[in-house]
Amino acid sequence: MHITALAGGIGGARFLRGLLHHLRSLPSQTPAANARVTVIGNTADDVTLHGLRVCPDLDTVMYTLGGGIHEEQGWGRAAETFTVAEELTAHGAQPQWFTLGDRDLATHILRTRMLGAGMTLSGVTAALCERWQPGVELLPMSDDRVETHVVIDDPDAEGGRRAIHFQEWWVRLHAAVPARQILAVGIEQAKPAPGVIEAIQTADVVLLPPSNPVVSIGTILGVPGIREAMRTTSAPVVGISPIVRGAPVRGMADACLSAIGVSTTAAAVAGLYADFLDGWLVADGDDKDEHPEGVTVRARPLLMGDVPAAAAIAADAVDLAATLRR
Ligand code: GDP
Ligand code: CA
Repeated sequence: MHITALAGGIGGARFLRGLLHHLRSLPSQTPAANARVTVIGNTADDVTLHGLRVCPDLDTVMYTLGGGIHEEQGWGRAAETFTVAEELTAHGAQPQWFTLGDRDLATHILRTRMLGAGMTLSGVTAALCERWQPGVELLPMSDDRVETHVVIDDPDAEGGRRAIHFQEWWVRLHAAVPARQILAVGIEQAKPAPGVIEAIQTADVVLLPPSNPVVSIGTILGVPGIREAMRTTSAPVVGISPIVRGAPVRGMADACLSAIGVSTTAAAVAGLYADFLDGWLVADGDDKDEHPEGVTVRARPLLMGDVPAAAAIAADAVDLAATLRR
């Protein structure tokens, strides 16, 4: 059995950890117990800082599944120290709104070095995963550079608006300044990374973890060919809503949804996937809303408070997929 999932950072990683926990708890004779899992990670959050290439979503998945994540924070390394960041601050080096820990820096140094030597991001990610052993095959959505930029109002800028990197909007401005537009720069020219289309087309089940529908899942689907593969795969596609009773559980996904004119509800998010979604897990109560036609909706608690809670959600997603045919 082959399970393929699309994933952003925290929401994706926590769900995937639950999924692996669930699969490993199954009796060995059940087909899903030996399932192979491929993860297609969002790379549109990637940013170059101090000359280093940082891939926050790939790293969150890799650290979470590899046992190195800062548990409470949900991103970055456990037992982190910040000596390099303190030294950079003493120099007045910018930007100071994005802090990189010492342990985390080792990842970015190695990635930058391998990219500089001519390796693709896929090759680099596979090399980093040799240490982290995430238990999944982790593929970047593309080896080409795609960067989410956010257009905000700025009275001093020409035309009264300017575009900033997604990380500056998210981390420095906490998405509190309205996004007039969210652009995935370079996406039209990007090609899916090797193995991405095959992983969707040859899967037995395709899962959409509760990742940000605009800047995580949305950008992955925007890479030419990926959305088409989601439509044409013979595998049932089951998603887990990132919106629980009108609220994003963590982070500011509501600010991203308003930027594209979509309301912050589980049903509205399902609408973004209506052309390929078969099954949709929503929080209790959210199943009363009107969901897109042809989507089988199931309600259950959707808070991933700990690994067993995430595993129970993943179990229901896999079970729902088993009842759906394309
Ligand atoms: P990011 O790249 O680190 O922002 O992470 P993702 O894009 O993978 O996921 C972020 C989204 O996960 C948030 O917008 C939330 O809506 C969702 N999320 C986080 N925790 C939970 C949870 O416990 N349950 C559900 N259903 N969604 C969650
Ligand atoms: Ca992200």
